[in-house]
Amino acid sequence: MSDCIFCKIIGGEIPSQVVYDDEDVFAFRDINAQAPLHVLIIPKAHIATINDLETNNADIIGKLYLVAKKIAADEGYTNKGYRVVMNCGEAAGQTVFHIHLHLLAGRPLDWPPG
Ligand code: AMP
Repeated sequence: MSDCIFCKIIGGEIPSQVVYDDEDVFAFRDINAQAPLHVLIIPKAHIATINDLETNNADIIGKLYLVAKKIAADEGYTNKGYRVVMNCGEAAGQTVFHIHLHLLAGRPLDWPPG
């Protein structure tokens, strides 16, 4: 999508600190990190919100989690623990309407979140 900031990041139009890149998935460090590790993991295909998911998106959603697991391992958090979360809609705090997993680690993370 031409007006999507995350599509522009995938395309290199907007610079990012890339952590992972394959044919389907892209991951980069959050510009406003909320923890020592804060990475956004996104599908290369533009999907606005969880509400827009279709049955044929099941594989890509699984891949996002597998990439989260890999990055957490690469950064040394497999056993220490980490949080993976996806916001859906404005009330949940979604501000960029291209689905993304937040991978957070490196500090105690409260539950429930605010
Ligand atoms: P959400 O509020 O769940 O939609 O998360 C959007 C996230 O995107 C926020 O944590 C922002 O800090 C992050 N973000 C927005 N623009 C950029 C950017 N250009 N590079 C990296 N992260 C970004």
